[in-house]
Amino acid sequence: MAEGDLVLMGPPGSGKGTQSRRMVDELGFVQLATGDLFRAHLSQGTELGKLAQTYMSKGQYVPDDITVKMVRERLADIPRKTRIAFDGFPRTVAQAQALDRLLKECGRSLAAVLLLDVPRDELLKRLGTRATCSRCQTVYSLAVRPPKVPGVCDHCGGPVSATARSDESPEVVKKRLEVYETETRPVIEYYEKRGVLQRVSGVGTMDEIGARLTMLLDRRKAARAAK
Ligand code: ADP
Ligand code: ZN
Repeated sequence: MAEGDLVLMGPPGSGKGTQSRRMVDELGFVQLATGDLFRAHLSQGTELGKLAQTYMSKGQYVPDDITVKMVRERLADIPRKTRIAFDGFPRTVAQAQALDRLLKECGRSLAAVLLLDVPRDELLKRLGTRATCSRCQTVYSLAVRPPKVPGVCDHCGGPVSATARSDESPEVVKKRLEVYETETRPVIEYYEKRGVLQRVSGVGTMDEIGARLTMLLDRRKAARAAK
């Protein structure tokens, strides 16, 4: 596979968290998910976690300086040879610019930015019925992709229950989709202009979408080898 890190983009509910965890399992990436990092801080009761929660619970983005600082700290722990799948970061143009600087500082580069495309009504359906495994954090959609055995995680057998997250109420979901449109659309354009953006349909089963992503990455690798 071509060298370099990946950014996985997509609206809330597009499945980017599931897919980036999959890349970790199957392709040896390290996942850097800002939403997970904020939630980890919160469950450890850190000041950063408490501060982030005041934004997350309203469906707003955590301010760029706080988010970038947390990413910088996490990056310092990851060996340069390990490939990173960024999930949920960058979400603003300022974060995208900061990521460019951070990667350069660590001698890293972006291989590709993958955008999971999902129609809006499908997103609303998925987000309204989300459930999470409290052991491995796998996210299920009770309407679209429930666990095979109700209440039991497909991956680790842990307990799966609805609304483990406080940001899943209908009003907050609507707000999150709005913020995505205003703040994160421009990031898509930012990467599109640079010619690194690849769109992938995010509709289908987890395996189908995973196969699409793997195929894309393989194709990029083949194109590089031919150069
Ligand atoms: P989703 O992609 O479904 O919104 P995440 O777990 O990625 O879920 O993010 C949850 C929340 O964490 C976001 O709504 C936002 O408040 C905060 N957050 C995550 N990543 C960022 C980021 N890069 N910048 C600002 N806020 C973020
Ligand atoms: Zn699990």
